[in-house]
Amino acid sequence: MQTHNLGYPRIGAQRQLKKACEQYWVSKINLEELNQVARKLREENWQVQLDAGIDIIPCNDFSLYDQTLDMSLLLGVIPQRYTQILTEVKTNQETDLYFAMARGYQKDGLDITAMEMTKWLDTNYHYLVPEFTAKQEFRIFSEKVFGEYNAAKRLLGAKAKPVLIGPVSFLLLGKEKETGFERIDLIKQLVPVYVEIINRLRLQGAVWIQLDEPCLALDLSKKEKEAFVFAYRSIANRISGVKLFVATYFEALLDNTQLAVNLPIAALHIDLVRAPEQLDEVLALIPEHLQLSLGLVDGRNVWKNDYEKSLQLINKAVEKLGTDRVIIAPSCSLLHSPIDLEFEITLDSEIKNWMAFAKQKLNEVSELKQIKEGNINLLELNKQAIESRRSSKKVHKQVVKDRITSFTEADAFRKSAFPVRQQLHRERFNFPPFPTTTIGSFPQTDDIRLLRSKYKKGEFTLSQYDHAIEQATIEAIRWQEEIGIDVLVHGEFERNDMVEYFGEQLDGFLFTKNGWVQSYGSRCVKPPVIYGDVSRPRDMTVRWSTFAAAQTNKPMKGMLTGPVTILQWSFVRDDQPRQVTTNQIAFAIRDEVLALEAAGIGIVQIDEAAIREGLPLRKAKHPHYLDWAVQAFKITAGGVQDKTQIHTHMCYSEFNNIIEHIAAMDADVITIETSRSQMELLEAFADFEYPNEIGPGVYDIHSPRVPSMEEMVSLLERAADLLPAQNLWVNPDCGLKTRKWPETKAALENMVAAAKQARAQICLNP
Ligand code: GLN
Ligand code: ZN
Repeated sequence: MQTHNLGYPRIGAQRQLKKACEQYWVSKINLEELNQVARKLREENWQVQLDAGIDIIPCNDFSLYDQTLDMSLLLGVIPQRYTQILTEVKTNQETDLYFAMARGYQKDGLDITAMEMTKWLDTNYHYLVPEFTAKQEFRIFSEKVFGEYNAAKRLLGAKAKPVLIGPVSFLLLGKEKETGFERIDLIKQLVPVYVEIINRLRLQGAVWIQLDEPCLALDLSKKEKEAFVFAYRSIANRISGVKLFVATYFEALLDNTQLAVNLPIAALHIDLVRAPEQLDEVLALIPEHLQLSLGLVDGRNVWKNDYEKSLQLINKAVEKLGTDRVIIAPSCSLLHSPIDLEFEITLDSEIKNWMAFAKQKLNEVSELKQIKEGNINLLELNKQAIESRRSSKKVHKQVVKDRITSFTEADAFRKSAFPVRQQLHRERFNFPPFPTTTIGSFPQTDDIRLLRSKYKKGEFTLSQYDHAIEQATIEAIRWQEEIGIDVLVHGEFERNDMVEYFGEQLDGFLFTKNGWVQSYGSRCVKPPVIYGDVSRPRDMTVRWSTFAAAQTNKPMKGMLTGPVTILQWSFVRDDQPRQVTTNQIAFAIRDEVLALEAAGIGIVQIDEAAIREGLPLRKAKHPHYLDWAVQAFKITAGGVQDKTQIHTHMCYSEFNNIIEHIAAMDADVITIETSRSQMELLEAFADFEYPNEIGPGVYDIHSPRVPSMEEMVSLLERAADLLPAQNLWVNPDCGLKTRKWPETKAALENMVAAAKQARAQICLNP
């Protein structure tokens, strides 16, 4: 039985790659110095995997920015707008082209936009979306994979396995940049280049080549299935002497099982963490020649593997296939997990004993093999850790569990229907038509960040820190009053991050010191870890909201993060369904909503920025997810009196398939991102005849550009064409945390002027 790994984090345990890239971008280090850091990281990673006893070790999983971008460069998929770099930039051309595609290029009189970024399937990792044109040509452009394989071979010999994104997923994960063709049809032109790459790698000595085809675990059309058959048959016919390893992950193969096991390849990897139940069907259908890689160790989370469970799966596979055809591995690339638990020297030792990061996960893979070969001691140690977690009082709180079970469906409904509430709100707040508000945060300037870091380092006392935050809050409130915003916010100056701020105050969460995971390029995040039943020991935001409310006679919105978003941006428990954890968070937030209400806050916004990105990969699973996600929101909001106005905010586009669920959340007001789509996505709300109030963002907060009043008025006109004008609010697309004050002030002044203009110009009752 062999062990195998699909990919390893490349940022480095001290985030060396992040630092080196950022220094290279501002010319503090040169290309040779950047490459040196990269080379060292790759070699260290290979050594770690070798030391852990992994038999098949990935290379070319390393990337300076993103592995999908690497593929685009390898295959010569370089959008037209970058050709000037190839003709005009002379030094470091390929690297500059590469970073230009990743980040845009504004130098040497050129101004070229970056490629679009989107989430890698259902992870929080973002990749650069390949762009295809009707006459797309493919050719080997970058030599990176060949160089990396050579270096890996020197250290690892036959164990080195180059990793590529497979041809079908590469096409499907990209997008058409013009009309008149379907990108999947490009498979015919693409395959010959894969053949050329594979043959070159074989000549260099490669024994295995991994082709990631995560799309094999998604819903596929007939044509897409045919593309898989075509691609792999064509490749197989034109290569020999090298074994193809197709990797799937994040979902079960389901209806694609036949297709996957019958591809002319040497090995197939399946994710048995996400979908252990698929093993039976795969074993039933697997042909004689195919080796099966079992994804047993969770590459997406921080918990120790339960060896007993894994061994059951291994035994089942070995019984059918024999040890020679079974390979054991993590469930997916370890890119998505933090690097090394050993750096967490301050973690509670009991909880630390339940956890494993990337380096530890390699050992788990290796230990599973050793146990299978008879080293039973290792199994005993693991059993103790698993049992300690299963029965720990740190995890299990009966009161939290009781609260969830005693709750009834009716508690998740507002007392009266929306029209009744709307009437009460109109009487209570007496807003003008097109009321103005913002999404919550105001610029987190360097001054604010410095305050926080000084306080954390102990250079500031709590009262000094609080005082400074109070001053920033007061200023923001004065300023909002001056320009005439209708519903004020306190500015969120006291918050580092919209999830972390709540996680730090809730029981059941822990924070690592160094648990960084790459989000995109040089950006890394350190997600909170939810390890136990979640409860709220004390008020979390009441102090700041009431302080802010006391500074003004205008209504002050309370600001909370919703349960699904908190869940989605954390490492979660794997010992209970996500739904249960979400409900626990929902109750904690519900109590906070009620505390704000009791403290006199009349409007509370519960952000659910991530509800859409939590959608499962397979459509069949959407209804169940949406049901419980909406239910969780309703738990948070359902306790308040009719006269309290509940807002929610979501910052993405595409509402088409989920609009009925958004409506079921029954928020009194929803604010959404719409400006970049020119209100197009409001059509989903219009078609649905969305009944509640809605604030379509009238300006894009992702850029420093200040929109004119006229622009915003015309967006409002467009919105009023689609939806009842008396239900419309006026606000930016999202929070203003990442902006600077000058542009924020200018834009919001224009926004308030636009609302006034709309009041004068747009008929309210058409
Ligand atoms: N209230 C948050 C803010 O304004 C919302 C951020 C978000 O939607 N991502 O920053
Ligand atoms: Zn947002």
